[in-house]
Amino acid sequence: MSEPSIFTRILNGEIPSEIVAQTDTLFAIRDIAPKAPVHLLVIPKTQQYRDVTELAAGDPALLVQMIELANTLAAEHSDGDFRLIFNTGANAGQTVFHVHAHVLAGGLDESSMN
Ligand code: 5GP
Repeated sequence: MSEPSIFTRILNGEIPSEIVAQTDTLFAIRDIAPKAPVHLLVIPKTQQYRDVTELAAGDPALLVQMIELANTLAAEHSDGDFRLIFNTGANAGQTVFHVHAHVLAGGLDESSMN
């Protein structure tokens, strides 16, 4: 069993962060360093998949659930339009190897997450 990721520690209440949405399989938090007016992270409760390619191969239904929750949250927190980003690999900017989707919304410009 690997060390708990920072997201698992948030889910377990060991690190404070408001959980803005939760399902049986997923939870969502606000990014601590927002890159857009709305910047949420949608995260599987399991940390067994390190990135979106592993998730797509191992549990595609869970990946679909992530997209559906992102869509719901974008409608709740903004006008419904959103950008969905999965940084995949350290050279692409991934820093937490517990798969998560960045949901960016609310007045995006071309510089967001570039
Ligand atoms: P990555 O770079 O792996 O794609 O995204 C990890 C994200 O997690 C970053 O955008 C970073 O700001 C966010 N993050 C890291 N630590 C924390 C934390 O303790 N709380 C919250 N809410 N977000 C965090």
